[in-house]
Amino acid sequence: GSPSEKYEYQAEVSRLMDLIVNSLYSNKEVFLRELISNASDALDKLRFLGVTEPELLKDAVDLDIRIQTDKDNGIITIMDSGIGMTHQELVDCLGTIAQSGTAKFLKALKDSKDAGADSNLIGQFGVGFYSAFLVSERVEVSTKSPKSDKQYVWVGEANASTYTIREETDPAKQLPRGTRLTLYLKRDDKGFAHPEKIEKLVKNYSQFVSFPIYTWQEKGYTKEVEVDEDPAEAKKEGEDETAEKKKKTKKVVEKYWDWELTNETQPIWLRSPKEVSKEEYNEFYRKTFNEYLDPLASSHFTTEGEVEFRSVLFVPPVSPTGKDDIVNPKTKNIRLYVKRVFISDDFDGELFPRYLSFIKGVVDSNDLPLNVSREILQESRIVRIMRKRLVRKAFEMIQGIALSENRDDYETFWENFGKHLKLGCIEDRENHKRLAPLLRFFSSQSENEMISLDEYVENMKPDQKDIYYIASDSVTSAKNTPFLEKLLEKDLEVLFLVDPIDEVAIQNVKLYKEKNFIDISKEDLDLGDKNEDKEKEIKQEFGQTCDWIKKRLGDKVASVQISNRLSSSPCVLVSGKFGWSANMERLMKAQTV
Ligand code: ADP
Ligand code: MG
Repeated sequence: GSPSEKYEYQAEVSRLMDLIVNSLYSNKEVFLRELISNASDALDKLRFLGVTEPELLKDAVDLDIRIQTDKDNGIITIMDSGIGMTHQELVDCLGTIAQSGTAKFLKALKDSKDAGADSNLIGQFGVGFYSAFLVSERVEVSTKSPKSDKQYVWVGEANASTYTIREETDPAKQLPRGTRLTLYLKRDDKGFAHPEKIEKLVKNYSQFVSFPIYTWQEKGYTKEVEVDEDPAEAKKEGEDETAEKKKKTKKVVEKYWDWELTNETQPIWLRSPKEVSKEEYNEFYRKTFNEYLDPLASSHFTTEGEVEFRSVLFVPPVSPTGKDDIVNPKTKNIRLYVKRVFISDDFDGELFPRYLSFIKGVVDSNDLPLNVSREILQESRIVRIMRKRLVRKAFEMIQGIALSENRDDYETFWENFGKHLKLGCIEDRENHKRLAPLLRFFSSQSENEMISLDEYVENMKPDQKDIYYIASDSVTSAKNTPFLEKLLEKDLEVLFLVDPIDEVAIQNVKLYKEKNFIDISKEDLDLGDKNEDKEKEIKQEFGQTCDWIKKRLGDKVASVQISNRLSSSPCVLVSGKFGWSANMERLMKAQTV
């Protein structure tokens, strides 16, 4: 072969390699994602440059990625038919960090006037190529750029401060174009060199890379083969020897190896929403989230401008934790992709507030770096803008269920996720306007079917200013409270807040369509029917009675007063204007027990 030249890594690369080889033990599998992403970048670059320089594409090879495994020897080969690297590019790209080829490419893109078209090419520095050393003892990069007539091999080893480059002279190893990476796995990591393992990783991390990814898989088909009958057997059965020899067949499985397409090349979110059917969304939902029921609603959108991303969101049909469970923000419900490469589904409120953490979906951004970390997510301005848009879209989607002709759908939604929205009323002041119309309550005029605040407001009396409610532990006890008497008499509707969280939620919302929420069990309930003269008269007549009752009850009550709020009951215990309602009192008691 040709002689190898030796090169020193840039100091930063040495440090990075040392870190990767000797300190990173968890999540090693990301190496495949990074290498596939590089292959995909190389194909993107070739495709992009091929637009202006068609001769680059002269070798009619398909643009794809092929991964082969040799489990006996612990070797993985990743091939792409992309842009490849020249000798100089090998030195620049795989020996230094600062001069990341992608970064250079981007700069070139920026410099050229007709740029800006393809934002898919935006890439940022990641651990990238060197992640191969998470699992490899030795890495060989054999590569051919269409700009060069020679193919070169870069060889690097874990724990070495130098690498070598030589020309590839073996005719059997020539590539028409592109790059072949050969990973010689460390002893403990040879398990990655299994076809099924690779298939699984590709499906999980790179399912939606936009070039086909083929993996080398063993397949089998059953065929029937003829077997000659044993002559001795035939005799035993007393057959006529002159009769035609009977043919027997046997089924055997014929094994062979072949390339198998392992990813879907056109992710659903890259397609136009007009072209995707409901069944396709449902199927995507079921496949992606391992569900067997269809979602209640979906929303597919692209945002442009300041931040560009695409997303498909879903409202699940049931709450996985059960409707009474605490809201858990650490669901794996949102899958984040950067440029179609899966990044993470491990979020803790970065993309959705915890009360909306039941929303499932995928988000694909072109503006985030591939190596985006939790810290970056938490501080990124881009993520903040994304979050705002996602939340808005989630509300539109839920509103869509509420507006659908099928009332059952929203009932199902409310049963499963009503608690979440009420929690939202407490935790997300900014979105009260979006949350309030989605709330549902029983009422004195609708004991079996919940109503919305809009329905309540529509049903208000012409001179009614406020929205009345009573908090209680059930519809039955709400219905029987003496506080209700006067309002029923006046045909005023009263909301029954029967879920412990209802009252706090309503108190946080405060107003709906400029109408105050009024607790009818509070002291100063004003139904606009005051008759001052009559009140004075009654107070004079019963003042002493009140004083006497107060004396008898002592500290058990704050005061004893004449009231106009009852019609048939003689008296009622009310809460002070600023005190806790009876319901709150009940809740607090329950909590301290
Ligand atoms: P990044 O992808 O962020 O630039 P990497 O460490 O992943 O950083 O890769 C470094 C550089 O090596 C790339 O920018 C690219 O120029 C080059 N490179 C890596 N893999 C390939 C490949 N399969 N084909 C062509 N160039 C590659
Ligand atoms: Mg990379």
